[in-house]
Amino acid sequence: MDLKFGPVFEKKPGQPVIIAGPCSAESEEQVLKTARALAKQNIDLFRSGIWKPRTRPGSFEGVGVIGLKWLQTVKKETGLPVTTEVANREHVFEALKHGIDVLWLGARTTVNPFSVQEVADALKGVDIPVMIKNPINPDVKLWMGAIERIAKAGISKIAVIHRGFSSFGSSKYRNEPRWQLTIELKRRIPDLQIICDNSHICGRRDTLAMVAQRAMDLQMDGLMTEVHPNPDEAWSDAAQQITPATFGKLVKGLKVRSVSTDDVEFLEHIDDLRNQIDHVDNELMDLFGKRMKLAESIGKYKKKNNISILQANRWNEILEQSVAKGREKGLSDGFVTQVLTAMHQESINHQTKIMNTKSKEANKKKVHP
Ligand code: PEP
Ligand code: MN
Repeated sequence: MDLKFGPVFEKKPGQPVIIAGPCSAESEEQVLKTARALAKQNIDLFRSGIWKPRTRPGSFEGVGVIGLKWLQTVKKETGLPVTTEVANREHVFEALKHGIDVLWLGARTTVNPFSVQEVADALKGVDIPVMIKNPINPDVKLWMGAIERIAKAGISKIAVIHRGFSSFGSSKYRNEPRWQLTIELKRRIPDLQIICDNSHICGRRDTLAMVAQRAMDLQMDGLMTEVHPNPDEAWSDAAQQITPATFGKLVKGLKVRSVSTDDVEFLEHIDDLRNQIDHVDNELMDLFGKRMKLAESIGKYKKKNNISILQANRWNEILEQSVAKGREKGLSDGFVTQVLTAMHQESINHQTKIMNTKSKEANKKKVHP
């Protein structure tokens, strides 16, 4: 599908887009207090949840429409543009009625094409910038699908928010970042602006700065962080919210690296290193090809002698040898194991094909018994 939309934010060179505000609007005072402090820090967009998708019933589900009025006051008083999450038709109508500047789709909405389509239909004929969070499961196609549905509704400014992916079991993250998925999305839509929601990735305060820096290092376009005047008392996501002052320090501490430079010496050096990498990658492909030919010869030999493909002892030996060799070269055990497992699987596939191909003689016999 030909996606025709532009960026949501006008970016200043070398500066990330900053979106901040409380997880949920709780009272007019709490919203305004946060907004006033953040306006002093020149953030780009003020966030606040009005309708909250909670995992279990009985948790605070948001203040609803009254919160939109508080956001209007934020706009009037501080001049900051405001954004909130919408998940259905009614949310869209109310948000538009109250002059919300940017809408976002939450992770639990992106995951459901019916909900995304409902929001898209409600947006037909209106042009308001929309940010789309990743679905809770690591599925780039589902994320793309939501972008396509919103773009098809005629929305001309779209950005995405990376808030990490749900996983089973304990992890240092609330939602695993799985950065490679955002890199893949950027490969598919190169001009797409990606905002990192470090709050929902981390789920705790002490790793927020580290994840924000990682996002900058990966050329993400900005940050969305939950900020609350009294984080411990927050009605939702208390463990991950920080005060405006802490947030100010986090942003000041970020090192934003530029994508390119016109420093000729730098460019030549990096060009030289990249050429060397291309050369090594080429050699690697030659070696993989050579290894596969050997595996095929073994396959033919095994077939002739009626020996099974998988030789567990031999596989263990290869793995152990390579992990040890990898360690000498500074490669992690995990990396070596992953590469070898993929290579081994490819060999098995090639050998299985050989085992299951009937020889010409056998085929002839079948046709002319
Ligand atoms: C939020 O931004 O407060 C929120 C509910 O996020 P997510 O959709 O990423 O869970
Ligand atoms: Mn939240």
